[in-house]
Amino acid sequence: MTDFPRSLIEFQQRFGDEAACAQYLIATRWPDGFVCPGCGGSKAWRLETKAWTFECAGCGRQTSVTAGTIMHHSKLPLTAWFWAAYLMATHSNGISALQLQRQLAFGSYKTAWLLCAKLRCSMLAPDRSPLAGLVEVDETEITCRSKNDPVSGGGGRSHHRKILVVGAVEVEDNGAGPGRIRLNQVPDYSASSLHAFLAANLAPGATAKTDGWSGYPGAVGLIHDPHVVGKMAAHVILPWVHRIFSNVKVWALGVYHGLRRKHLQSYLDEFVFRFNRRRTRHAAFRSLLRIAAAHRPLTYNMLLSPEALA
Ligand SMILES: [Zn+2]
Repeated sequence: MTDFPRSLIEFQQRFGDEAACAQYLIATRWPDGFVCPGCGGSKAWRLETKAWTFECAGCGRQTSVTAGTIMHHSKLPLTAWFWAAYLMATHSNGISALQLQRQLAFGSYKTAWLLCAKLRCSMLAPDRSPLAGLVEVDETEITCRSKNDPVSGGGGRSHHRKILVVGAVEVEDNGAGPGRIRLNQVPDYSASSLHAFLAANLAPGATAKTDGWSGYPGAVGLIHDPHVVGKMAAHVILPWVHRIFSNVKVWALGVYHGLRRKHLQSYLDEFVFRFNRRRTRHAAFRSLLRIAAAHRPLTYNMLLSPEALA
């Protein structure tokens, strides 16, 4: 497994130029040696005329280290990608596109936004394992802003919209603390929406501890542990999922001045990625690049209409 830097100084020393970044990506993408995406052949040579590009000895196809990844056709140097990935993955609260634009001195906000959006899509590991054991599950509403709302304030006249979100938190050691989490936008709190969330995020045999809402019982393969309480006491029965909900709302306001409805799920994915790696922040950089190197290319238009990604 590729190693990762454990401090900013170490990062700077290791990834100071394109060659160092490219070597790291090659090792991340092809840990057992180059494999041609065309024919599966492993015999290839590096082209001298094209940067970080292999030509397959079998079929002649040329593959650059970023071809077919989230970095496909990017005009940015790899060093910019690496800086952005490092800052996004290791900073405890993440970094907004505006902050990134300033930190990396990009000429345009769009460049920074696109980079952040692509990396954010690389924060959902396709092979992540479902939550297990005792899991608190509850719902909340997140207030989003539309494109034309001011980033803060609004004087009570802005068109804020509440989006429904379901959260799940593994409870470690009989309630000593939270384990891993999941957060998903849902269209409603119906049994079909909630069961779909449970099926996608909880391992068979896990126990879903809920407030007893009628949408939860009957999920296949799970043990249901309902605690029917008055609304005021839900945070007592389900303390960890409530703490996560409040953290995600504070984070959304603090880092992003509110989230946009259209991109809400990708921001939730970012929050989940960082929370689940809070004890291994520097290794999170490696995870992010690993997912990015395996993620299909995304265009600006695809990112602007996330529904097209589904
Ligand atoms: Zn080939």
